Amino acid sequence: MREECGIFGIWKHPEQDACVATGEHDALSAARLTYLGLFALQHRGQESAGITSLQEGKLKTIKGMGLVSEVFSTQNIETFPGTAAIGHVRYSTTGSSILENAQPISVTYAGGQLSAAHNGNLVNTDLLREILERQGAVFQTTSDSEVIIQTIVSHTASCDLYQGIIRAISSIKGAYALILLTNNELIGIRDEFGFRPLCIGKLNNSFVLASESCALDIIGAEYIREVEPGEIVIINNSGITSQKPAKQPERYKQCVFEYIYFARPDSKVFGKSVYDVRKQSGRYLAKESPVSADVIIPIPDSGVSAALGYAEACGIKYELGLIRNHYVGRTFINPKQSIREFGVSMKLNPVREIIADKRVLLVDDSIVRGTTCKKIIKMIRNAGAKEVHLRISSPPIKHSCFYGVDTPDPAELIASTHSLEEIRDFIGVDSLSYLSIENLLSAASSSIENDRFCTACFDGAYPILQG
Ligand code: SF4
Repeated sequence: MREECGIFGIWKHPEQDACVATGEHDALSAARLTYLGLFALQHRGQESAGITSLQEGKLKTIKGMGLVSEVFSTQNIETFPGTAAIGHVRYSTTGSSILENAQPISVTYAGGQLSAAHNGNLVNTDLLREILERQGAVFQTTSDSEVIIQTIVSHTASCDLYQGIIRAISSIKGAYALILLTNNELIGIRDEFGFRPLCIGKLNNSFVLASESCALDIIGAEYIREVEPGEIVIINNSGITSQKPAKQPERYKQCVFEYIYFARPDSKVFGKSVYDVRKQSGRYLAKESPVSADVIIPIPDSGVSAALGYAEACGIKYELGLIRNHYVGRTFINPKQSIREFGVSMKLNPVREIIADKRVLLVDDSIVRGTTCKKIIKMIRNAGAKEVHLRISSPPIKHSCFYGVDTPDPAELIASTHSLEEIRDFIGVDSLSYLSIENLLSAASSSIENDRFCTACFDGAYPILQG
């Protein structure tokens, strides 16, 4: 399971478009704040990064392949003025990993310039692309994000941008958290199900939009609230306005996997602390699946918060028995299986003094193919563990995601093709349990809100189908 993308936008910082031109560096330009925001969102995508800045009424973009720190140098970011900007970090889920597909994507149309940063995946991209191409649209990229922007532009032939957005939304199906920058405003949009997160913050007089609140924290902005599913927020020099295009039933299906793995634990997403949800999942897991063990060890970093919750609930000693090498970097972003397998021992190393002769309980967030997990278990056994038990703080992943998360085909998902006992045998543990969907949802929300989350990768209940 791979993160999707991270998006960020800020309007009106500093007040004057003069940061570089006048040498006044005390107020950071919108682009420099966006750079910091993308830096905080780097975990959501490492293939490409880009920023579009509004400079003296015109949109200008810098983007490239690689990490934020590789695409932006001190030189190019410090000479990139502007009072508004949007930014994007990408992991490709539709369209290949090439510079043309890097975002933000910009177009010039009859109404001016429009730039977009998109997180999510449409389920009717092919159909929309075909319709647009028949109308004469020429695509520069293979990404569904360009399909969104072209769909919006095609609807502005007979109306203004806002009406064009509303008309486009009625034909776009799928998952999208979207930040648009025009010559006059910053616009944030979430699809009606709210699959992907987007929050609003404030930095002095400037409004900020970001995938996760950690991107607000890094620039010192205050968290205000989430953009609601189906909501369009328009931010301009008059302030912020919010619209929901039509009266629609609340059909929230926010991605519960944001809580399990994607989002940073120090973030708030969908209005709730990710750390709190993970820790509560661990407490529930301890109640559902107790085990006699001498020590609880998290598989870092994803299992840390749940392991803390598990240890708190059952009173077994918590230790950091696996140490992660934080300098391995993008070795693990290479999708080739051979490198991924080689990478496990480069990434994690056991602390023998904690593990030897102990009954070890490992806690992790999920099992996808099971191959990485098997290697970690072998590592723990080689370090002298007497018994190895594994507890997973989410339900078994049996289905692929169509909403902006890169998942293997079901044939490669071990829980789709193997029984619990077969998985236990394959990865080589003495016992194995997963958290139930019911308790995952209880950890993520209050009981009356349990239907506000997508759980399709666990139960196959897809809120919208492809096509
Ligand atoms: S299918 Fe899974 S990963 Fe995809 S949006 Fe739903 S909960 Fe999230």
